Amino acid sequence: MICDICGQEGARTRHITRSYGKGDNLLLIENVPVINCPHCGESYLTAETLHEIERIKLHRRNFATKRAISVAGYMLGHHSQSKKQANKSFHSDG
Ligand SMILES: [Zn+2]
Repeated sequence: MICDICGQEGARTRHITRSYGKGDNLLLIENVPVINCPHCGESYLTAETLHEIERIKLHRRNFATKRAISVAGYMLGHHSQSKKQANKSFHSDG
């Protein structure tokens, strides 16, 4: 795919587990798609992904499965077309 940062072909999507919050508020979200570009070295989430993560966090009680800590799976395939917008920085709001 085309990198949103440098515009070159070759960016790849990786799926990782990310954590938000800490302690009792710790939430893990699995399979979060992260775009990785070998050309410019950037790793970023798309605006769509960030939006979805916010939604998961809002509805964490519905998404989370009972484990020692809360874990939610990133929901794939429920999206309409969205503008491609790069978000360069990972920011954890914990
Ligand atoms: Zn790039």
